[in-house]
Amino acid sequence: MGEINIENLTKKFGDTTAVDNLSLDIADSEFLVLVGPSGCGKSTTLRCLAGLETVTSGDIYIAGDHMNYRVPQNRDIAMVFQDYALYPHMTVRGNIKFGLEEEDGYTKEGREERVEEIAETLGITELLDRKPDELSGGQQQRVALGRAIVRDPEVFLMDEPLSNLDAKLRAEMRTELQQLQHRFDVTTVYVTHNQTEAMTMSDRIAVMNDGELQQVGRPLDLYHAPENRFVGGFIGEPMMNFVTGRNENGTFVGTHLEYPLDGDIREDVSGTSAVTLGVRPEDIDIEAVTNPDESSLGDHEFLMHVSVVEPHGDQNVVHLNFPDDTAEEDLLQALTGGTDIFEQGSTVVASVDPRDVHVFDAESGEALHNRRTATDAEVTNV
Ligand code: ATP
Repeated sequence: MGEINIENLTKKFGDTTAVDNLSLDIADSEFLVLVGPSGCGKSTTLRCLAGLETVTSGDIYIAGDHMNYRVPQNRDIAMVFQDYALYPHMTVRGNIKFGLEEEDGYTKEGREERVEEIAETLGITELLDRKPDELSGGQQQRVALGRAIVRDPEVFLMDEPLSNLDAKLRAEMRTELQQLQHRFDVTTVYVTHNQTEAMTMSDRIAVMNDGELQQVGRPLDLYHAPENRFVGGFIGEPMMNFVTGRNENGTFVGTHLEYPLDGDIREDVSGTSAVTLGVRPEDIDIEAVTNPDESSLGDHEFLMHVSVVEPHGDQNVVHLNFPDDTAEEDLLQALTGGTDIFEQGSTVVASVDPRDVHVFDAESGEALHNRRTATDAEVTNV
């Protein structure tokens, strides 16, 4: 069983702490995506799992066995990197067979059979006699995968394996990799800085920042219930809107807006004065108005100006400012349907339902309140 247990893993390079006291349990057959911004320690974590880096402190177990002092060849892992590192002078067949180099227990014919079996699974049988420079990026990627999985390892470790591919191929390979992982049923740790890959591919996501684990959970749990502002901002594209201000007796007061915090939000934020409101772009409703009238607005509505509209076809990203805001930056981004047309420079009424609001402690970044989801009980007093 290929479960992985990482206990209090720390890895330092001189004065730099690349991984800081990371503890993470990954179940057998799970697809875990390790995600975070550049330099957060993802690759170092993966390299420690692989045995390519020694750990400064902490313990790593794979299938219950202590790994700290084992060389990579004795960890029963297979790695796929961003740079596929195929051998240019070998054919596809030779490259895949190379993955069996260290394996005992295969006859010459057995090795050939195994290579053909893997090539068939990956749909590259007709490429077996080609050299890597005669393959497209996606085909090279499949060969690299083939070389990794031919040994039937306990664990796959993948470091940005799709980042050299163009957007369309990347999307195709995402689906393919997921299907393969299910078929082979191998515990997989997949490193990426791309939150779309993390959301779409994983059973669970582990978000790292500055060497520290921020949160681990199922993709939608992270999306709807981030434990801190960093996770709220990192997961989701366009990112969550943040507005910082004060909690004044249950009303959020920012530079440009006042927003009553209703019912259970008020309870959750009581005792914290510096707070940040978080709202996802799809949770801001906007409606065009020709004769703006402040006095007719509801408690959770504001007049805003459309500064820029980015059409994406299926949806539009509408950048919004408050009318009296002279700052260069847009304050909010709203997501609308592709056929909802808003003119640059026009005025809109923006409304945010209190059920969709997140509130973070402005100093620690900790989530004080997360939005309601369909599975939550209905909010009362709203
Ligand atoms: P990226 O997405 O850019 O690859 P990452 O999240 O994978 O980033 P790491 O490569 O794990 O980040 O690096 C974490 C930190 O450790 C960074 O500050 C990096 O500069 C540092 N680091 C990594 N490898 C070494 C090394 N061999 N020597 C010194 N510092 C290193």
